[in-house]
Amino acid sequence: MPKMLARVVVLVCLPCAAVAQPATPVEKWTGKTILLIGAHADDDAQSHGTLAMLQAQKNDVYIVTLTTGNVGTQDPQLSRSQLAQIRRQEELDALAVLGIPAEHYINLGYDDGLLEFEDRKAVVEKLVFFIRKLRPDVLFAFDPGKRYQRWHKSDHRAAAYLAADAARAAMWRLLFEGHILQDGLKAHEIPEYMLYDGAEEDMNTWVDISSTLEKKLTASTRYVSQWGPGWQNYKGARLSPEEEKESKDRARQRVRMREGKPVEGFRHYKGLPDSIGK
Ligand SMILES: [Zn+2]
Repeated sequence: MPKMLARVVVLVCLPCAAVAQPATPVEKWTGKTILLIGAHADDDAQSHGTLAMLQAQKNDVYIVTLTTGNVGTQDPQLSRSQLAQIRRQEELDALAVLGIPAEHYINLGYDDGLLEFEDRKAVVEKLVFFIRKLRPDVLFAFDPGKRYQRWHKSDHRAAAYLAADAARAAMWRLLFEGHILQDGLKAHEIPEYMLYDGAEEDMNTWVDISSTLEKKLTASTRYVSQWGPGWQNYKGARLSPEEEKESKDRARQRVRMREGKPVEGFRHYKGLPDSIGK
C-alpha cells in the first residue's frame, strides 16, 4: 500500500476504533458475569490482570477450557493423564492467586492438540450449554479475526471459531432446544465481547492492569509445566524462591506498557454475535 494511502486509512479508521471501545471503561465494570473460553490451561493468562481486577470489583469470572492440555510437554517421563492432572492443578493454583474460585473453572476434557478434529457440533453444544447456564454479560475469547483468516496454532484457531459459533447458537432457542425443554435453560444472547490474542492493529481497548500486575505475574509462575523448568523436566508444582523470582522477572519483561502503565489489549465488540468478525 502506498504510504500516503496507508496514512489516510489509519486516519479514517481511528475514530471507528474509538467508538468500539466500551462506553463504561473496563476498569469500572462491576456486577457482570464474565465468561472466558480458551483451548488450554494458560490461554486465560494473557487476560489475567483484567480478570483479577474484574473479580475484585464484584464481577463473577468463569473460565471454560476446552482441552486438558495433556500433550504439550518436552518431558519424556510424563504420561497424558499425569500431564492433564498437572495442568488442571496449575490452572486452579493460578486462579487462586487471582481470587477466582475453583468452582468457576470448567474443563470440557478434550485432548490437547486435536481440538479442530473433534465433532464440532458436540463441542458447540457443550459451550452453548454453559453460555445458557451462566448467562454471561461479556465473553472473553480468542479473536476469530476481523479482516481475513490467518493461520494460528491449531487449538487456538479452533477455540476462536468454536467460541464465536457457540455465542451465535446460544441465542437461538430452536438450536439445541434440549437445553430449553429438558434442562430448564433459556436462550441467551451475549451482548459484549473482549477478544484476545488478535492482531495488534485490531485491538481497540487497552485495560490498565496496574492494580493487579503483581497478581498476574505471580499467577504466571504457577504454570510450572508450561512456562517454567517443568517444561523439560517436571519435578513438582512449586518453584524454589530463586526460580519463582526469575520466572516473575521474565513475565514482567513480557508485559505491554502504554503511556507508562502496564496494560492488556483486546478487540472489544458490542452487538449481535453474527458480526463478531466485522
Ligand atoms: Zn494455548
